[in-house]
Amino acid sequence: AKAGGRNRYSFYTPSLQTAALARMRLSNDLRYALQEQQLHVVYQPIVALQTGKAVKAEALIRWQHPQKGWISPLEFIPLAESSGQITAIGDFVFDQALHQVAQWRQSLDPEFQISINQSPVEFQSDPARYQRWLEAMEAQQLPGQAITIEITEGLLLDASEKVVQRLLEFSAAGVQVAIDDFGTGYSSLSYLKKFDIDFLKIDQSFVRNLQRNNSDHALCEAIIMMAHKLGLKVIAEGVETTAQADLLREAGCDFAQGYLYGKPSAAADFLSLPCCACAP
Ligand code: C2E
Ligand code: CA
Ligand code: CA
Ligand code: CA
Repeated sequence: AKAGGRNRYSFYTPSLQTAALARMRLSNDLRYALQEQQLHVVYQPIVALQTGKAVKAEALIRWQHPQKGWISPLEFIPLAESSGQITAIGDFVFDQALHQVAQWRQSLDPEFQISINQSPVEFQSDPARYQRWLEAMEAQQLPGQAITIEITEGLLLDASEKVVQRLLEFSAAGVQVAIDDFGTGYSSLSYLKKFDIDFLKIDQSFVRNLQRNNSDHALCEAIIMMAHKLGLKVIAEGVETTAQADLLREAGCDFAQGYLYGKPSAAADFLSLPCCACAP
């Protein structure tokens, strides 16, 4: 940018244009990412806090761009949403994850589960698509319980007919539902009794300062207590230290996910994580 220019707009305008242009280029590149096999699914273990064993994994998407290297989903999921590519990408993640969980239910644990993220835009896409998901599960003889769908609070705040219908269909099929990033979005909790929710995932921002910050500790305890009274299980996100894990276990938290147990990793490396090594 011409930072030294005299015109006071010359600094801002080109950089905004550059950013928009970069987004357009990236969005364009994303069109080829699927067919060029640049997208990969990695898996992060979710352990039972009582045993330390992995009982679940979250599927997380990665994009290895041929020139730019690894690009974060936080950057390209919004692009995929506005270009309509989110459904093709979501179907790719689902196919991979389904195949993986079927395999792990044979080799690791017959009850093993997989968690799949659904952004609000994707969740409101073509119903026929989700019908195919349910059929694919049936074809693989996987019960609904093998799959957890992670959605965010915002989606349920003023849930559209489409959203309500989708949740009912998933629940009827036994598919579990988790509220991702719980506690970061909205003050209303009434959706928790309105919908069939199975898990709350405590956002990592509450877990990060668990030892140092009394109010974060109090919030975690309160979330866990409330969830249990409503019959929901709790997963703590972003657990990086044994001290955090200990506090969460004492507070009655059910599951934990974070670098302490394993970073998101390729399926081939997943089984060598200590929390998977001798799972039941
Ligand atoms: P998320 O669903 O909240 O996923 C958790 C994020 O926290 C992941 O980032 C994970 O790598 C990171 N994380 C896990 N443990 C730790 C820890 O101990 N410390 C810290 N600092 N971070 C940890 P990631 O993989 O970069 O994904 C970012 C977001 O992108 C996800 O947030 C999710 O919203 C979205 N995303 C990822 N994969 C998909 C996908 O397949 N579909 C959709 N719609 N969104 C996805
Ligand atoms: Ca998630
Ligand atoms: Ca349920
Ligand atoms: Ca999260």
